[in-house]
Amino acid sequence: MVSLKQKFPILIVEDNPVSMKILEKILVQEGHQVITAENGRIAMEKFNNEFYPIIISDWMMPEMDGPELCRVIRAENHQCYVYIILVTGNNEKKDIVTGLEAGADDYITKPYNHSELIARLNTGLRILDLEVSLKKANDEIKLLSVTDSLTGSYNRACISERLPAELKRALRYKRAISVIFCDIDHFKNVNDTFGHSAGDQVLKEFVRKISNLIRTNLDWIGRYGGEEFLIVLPETDITGACFLAERLRKIISEMVTRMNGKYISITASFGVAELNHEMTNPEYAYEELLNEVDQYLYQAKNGGRNRVVGSMGEYI
Ligand code: GH3
Ligand code: MG
Ligand code: MG
Ligand code: MG
Repeated sequence: MVSLKQKFPILIVEDNPVSMKILEKILVQEGHQVITAENGRIAMEKFNNEFYPIIISDWMMPEMDGPELCRVIRAENHQCYVYIILVTGNNEKKDIVTGLEAGADDYITKPYNHSELIARLNTGLRILDLEVSLKKANDEIKLLSVTDSLTGSYNRACISERLPAELKRALRYKRAISVIFCDIDHFKNVNDTFGHSAGDQVLKEFVRKISNLIRTNLDWIGRYGGEEFLIVLPETDITGACFLAERLRKIISEMVTRMNGKYISITASFGVAELNHEMTNPEYAYEELLNEVDQYLYQAKNGGRNRVVGSMGEYI
């Protein structure tokens, strides 16, 4: 993992050029990059241009002092925590509480004790690194909570949260959106003939194939149930969606999954529907569209499977 030390320079804020030079020298000696500002106001200008997770700021400065700088920084949310160390002269020690209340995380007194400064800085870096790893773990948990563990597609819970939101947005901005509901034909036979883990393999291949054929970062596929998947196509009307469904149908019917020296072929049936802007109440858009597309899928199954049915009937 790249540590914050390597990634971000430290912003040091100090109005006294001599003190600034001393601080800068210690930090650079320790391998840190530094950016300097002569007072709180200039520091804020630099901070607003570029993010600095560590700030070491003098207390007394013209225009904007250290505690005020802390308050301004704490008043807003930032991409990650900003660790602030305030620097006080010995005679300001009684005001420490004020500094901490203004939002400083720690303080250090001038003249600098090299090892103390570095030790306090390292405490800050440890906290920030911890925050980074927590965020990463959190992102992973979030991803897991929306992902189907077998196929890597979105799971049912995610579909029922994300699709209604996409439909509402499409209705509000009068954008086209279509869905394809597909179900693998006679999938039970695959399990019965080749075994359950072969069936699992087929499901994975099915999703991988489809994911490669839909538009990245726009279309998405979710596992609605066992061998039923929903493909969501924003900015796509029924003609485009049927065209894609037919392409998917053909490619799936030509797909061969190899398992233990055996070759497994499948077909799938597809229902396709576009969101109807005139007829749809935003509150029921999700249920209505799913009902509609489910009926088309049912017709595709009844019509003999391995086919695409949309609102205009069977697509050939
Ligand atoms: P149809 O053409 O009517 O859809 O027939 P089908 O056999 O595909 O439908 P049915 O609903 O009778 O059976 C679905 C099968 O899908 C049964 C179930 O065991 C299998 N299945 C569901 N989820 C999984 C899974 O995660 N792994 C495996 N291997 N099989 C699964
Ligand atoms: Mg000063
Ligand atoms: Mg099936
Ligand atoms: Mg099914």
